[in-house]
Amino acid sequence: MNERRDDARTLVAKIIGDRAGEWDMAGRIPLEPLRQLGAEGLLCAEVAESSGGLGFSSQDNGELIACIGEHCGSVRSVATCQGMAAWTVRRFGDAGQRAAFLRRLTGGELAAMAFSEPGAGSDLSAMRTEIVADGDTVVVSGHKVWVTGAKYADLLVVFGRFGDGAAAVVVPASAAGVRLENVPGALGCRAGGHANVRLDAVRVPVANLLRGAGQPLGWLVTTALTYGRLSVAWGCVGILRACLGAATAHVKSRKQFGRLLADHQMIRRHIAELLAAEQVATRVCEHASRQWDAGSPEMVTASVVAKHVAAGHAATGSSTAVQVLGSAGVLDGHVVARAYRDAKLMEIIEGSNEISQLMLADHALGAS
Ligand SMILES: Cc1cc2nc3c(=O)[nH]c(=O)nc-3n(C[C@H](O)[C@H](O)[C@H](O)COP(=O)(O)OP(=O)(O)OC[C@H]3O[C@@H](n4cnc5c(N)ncnc54)[C@H](O)[C@@H]3O)c2cc1C
Repeated sequence: MNERRDDARTLVAKIIGDRAGEWDMAGRIPLEPLRQLGAEGLLCAEVAESSGGLGFSSQDNGELIACIGEHCGSVRSVATCQGMAAWTVRRFGDAGQRAAFLRRLTGGELAAMAFSEPGAGSDLSAMRTEIVADGDTVVVSGHKVWVTGAKYADLLVVFGRFGDGAAAVVVPASAAGVRLENVPGALGCRAGGHANVRLDAVRVPVANLLRGAGQPLGWLVTTALTYGRLSVAWGCVGILRACLGAATAHVKSRKQFGRLLADHQMIRRHIAELLAAEQVATRVCEHASRQWDAGSPEMVTASVVAKHVAAGHAATGSSTAVQVLGSAGVLDGHVVARAYRDAKLMEIIEGSNEISQLMLADHALGAS
């Protein structure tokens, strides 16, 4: 498997190349590399080969996501959403839905995940989007915000209220009644294709309503977000690897006070802390992926721990990297400047630091 993982990483490096800074500054990724990554199965590599995916384990997929994140945080954010969409279809879809949608997600079409609303950020129980069955169709009405990848997406996986419970429904982005609203330039992951999405009585076939319909909202979103949290955590490993690479290269070539920066003890301390951060983040992700691959119920908590720990280290580690590079690292488009801005967002998305802490405290106290 490692040979296939290495091949996948080589392909990622080839497709993204050194264009992440350019895409970040432009605030947009051209569709062609995204479609290419998707058609190679690289954006949802855990999907089985029989459905056009790569059949990767969580561990191998995680290393692939770290590689994508090391190259480009915006592509990583799109990949996390594509993987989360595929996981949602695998987890909740029936055989027909899996056959229909997974092939599209591994064939170059792109998907986005719509949970958040103006009044429902950390508190998704405040979600107001309505999904109503009407004969052989369902009607979706609501307002979703901050949908990563919406500007690139062919499919939107929309969560909303359904009867006494909740549901997830696959909505073609081209359906009548779907309208994107621009999200003004974000601090980080600037090319993530974020948009707000208006859904005005959007009618789709009932076959697009995923099978978990009617289940409790909390269960549906936690199931979907568990994939997202682990993927974001692996993305943070990628941020730390990018920072470590840039910082070590810089200190081995830049001289001050007659010596390489690498020969100054305080700089060496920064490098040591960066390495330790990358190692710790990798280990918590590996642990969570092992739980995932074993199908252990512990994967839910392990994914929250991984995301919380890795995001914290990515935020402090990227700040350290900017410090080590000095003025060279604050230029717009520079890898560590980008990492610093992207990393801050990792402490907010897929459950902020505070929400992660609340979940972990509940777990430790036996409340969940
Ligand atoms: C770059 C980016 C990409 C995103 N992509 C997506 C996407 O693809 N799909 C999607 O659906 N959403 C997406 N989101 C939305 C994201 O999930 C929310 O921003 C996140 O859940 C936090 O919600 P909020 O921003 O409304 O903050 P709020 O919920 O208003 O929270 C504000 C602050 O209060 C804290 N807080 C809230 N409740 C508590 C509490 N009970 N105790 C202590 N502190 C608390 C939070 O931790 C935070 O620090 C994205 C957001 C960003 C910034």
